[in-house]
Formats: sequence, C-alpha cells, structure tokens
Amino acid sequence: MRAFTLVPALALLLMLPAAGCRTNEATGRSQLIVLSAEDEIRLGEEAMPELVKEYGGEVSDSVLREYVRDIGMNLKQYTEAKNPELPWQFTLLDSDVINAFALPGGKVFMSRGLMTRMTNEAQLAGVLGHEIGHVTAQHVNERISQAITLQVGVGALAVGTRKSENSMARYVPVIVGATGQGFLLKFGRDQESEADHLGMRYMARSGYHPRAQMQVMQILNEAMEEAGGARGPEFLSTHPYPETRIARIRENLRTIYTNADSNPSLSYHEERFQRIARPRLDAIEAEKRRAMGGENREEALLAALLAQPQTWCALCREAQQ
Ligand SMILES: [Zn+2]
Repeated sequence: MRAFTLVPALALLLMLPAAGCRTNEATGRSQLIVLSAEDEIRLGEEAMPELVKEYGGEVSDSVLREYVRDIGMNLKQYTEAKNPELPWQFTLLDSDVINAFALPGGKVFMSRGLMTRMTNEAQLAGVLGHEIGHVTAQHVNERISQAITLQVGVGALAVGTRKSENSMARYVPVIVGATGQGFLLKFGRDQESEADHLGMRYMARSGYHPRAQMQVMQILNEAMEEAGGARGPEFLSTHPYPETRIARIRENLRTIYTNADSNPSLSYHEERFQRIARPRLDAIEAEKRRAMGGENREEALLAALLAQPQTWCALCREAQQ
C-alpha cells in the first residue's frame, strides 16, 4: 500500500497559492488551509471514481439511490456561505461494510451496510450531515496542511506560491490510498466531534431531531460489538470506543437543542424510512443471501468485511498519527 510520503508532500508544497490561515465560515475556527476551493472540488471529483469502484459501485435500486440523494441535497441547502453551491453528490455504495465518508468539494458516500441498520430518516440525515460537516469544515484540506507542516515545517509553506497546471490525480492515492488506507480520510477526534456538531446543526435546520445523531453512535457501537475482534488488533488500537463523540453529542443536546423534544418541527421520519427504504434494503439483503447460499452468509460477510478498505470515517475516533 502507498502511504503518505515526503515526495507527494513536497510536490504538493509547490502548488500552494491558497496557503494561509482562514476563518472557516461553518466552524468559525481559524485553519491553515493549503488547497483552494477549486483544488478541493477537483480533488474530490478525481478521487470519486476510484472510491466508488473500491466499494463495489452504487446500489442498483434507483429509488434507494434517489432517496439518499434527496435527503443529502436538502441538508446541503442549510450549509454556510457558498457551500450550498458546491457540486454535491450523495452516493449509496453497494457494500455490506458499515461506513460513510466524504471527499473535499461535496462528494459524500454511505454504504448500504450502514443504511440497513437504520430505523428512521433522521439517522440517515445524521450520517449525511456528519459527512457534509467534514466537507464544510474543510477537514481534508486541514489534514493535508497538517501533514505537510509536520514534514517540512510551517515556514516552508511561504515558499510555495507557484500554481501547478497539473491534474490533481497524482494526489488521489494520498487521499484515498491505493488500498483504501485513506490516510487523509482518517480524521482526528476533534474533527469527528466537529463534524457531529455541524451535522446536528444541518439536521435541525432541515427538520430532523438532532438526537438521531446519538442513535447513529449506538448503531456504530452495536456493529463494533458484533464484529468483536474480527478487525484485528490494529483496528482496535487505532479506533477506540467513541466516548468523546458521544459525550459531545450529549452536551450539544443539553445546551443547544434544549427544547428539541417539544419542537413540533423536528421529526425522526420513521414512517417514511420504513415505507420507502426498509422493503428495498431487505430485498437486497435477501437477494445477496440467496446468492451466497444461505448458511455460509456469516462467513461470507466476515470475509467481505475483512477484504474491504477501512477508511472508517464514521467510526474514526482518534488522530492516526
Ligand atoms: Zn467522520
């Protein structure tokens, strides 16, 4: 597998006309940012096909695909500044792995394996909102900045002022990883909580009860407990349990969404999810079960899980470095 190395870091340094400290309009936080908005969009668009392929393509059921897309497109309208104008795309991947992630510039992905564990639309909005939060908070851009400054020092950033005409394609492996290692898609603990925070904001603005973000954490916890040590010690050492995220979500509910329970405009939309999504998700599961030959399904699912890339944005708890 290709890891993040000094060579792409230095190459990237040469194309940093946008490098500088900016106050992000979604978070209000000052960040060191190295890629321009155009670079982010280009990077996301060039990395997207590789990611979709790695996860087995899109779900074939067009109603499911459009259901996810419509919820995402509604949520993104409530993002800050010029973010609603990004070329957003919301992709439902035909993978049993439980995962969700986002690329810069508005490309959001969720696996069918995660969606099938949901019971209401607000949970779906919670996952998409969290990923939208990674985009609007420019976490990949920030992570690239961190990686570069870690390796070459902050002072060297001032040197990079030449705009490269080259495609962003050569940086795709850095972002995605040849085997889905996804160094830059593994966010730190604070970035994960920030994405939760923004996700809850977009949920509430779209009419979803932000408590569903807590339900998403319960879904992820249950999935991890079921998997046990199946992902191996490496996974367990780099992905500890999400106490920090849960604590901060609980704090948000207590301090920001105090009256959410009595607010009639906030809903979980359980009926809509059960009517539109559930039968279709069950039909796909049943079809896969038939194709796998029934009793070997558990083993086949485990094999599929182990064979899949582990970017695990949604489960990522701690900084990886
Ligand atoms: Zn995340």
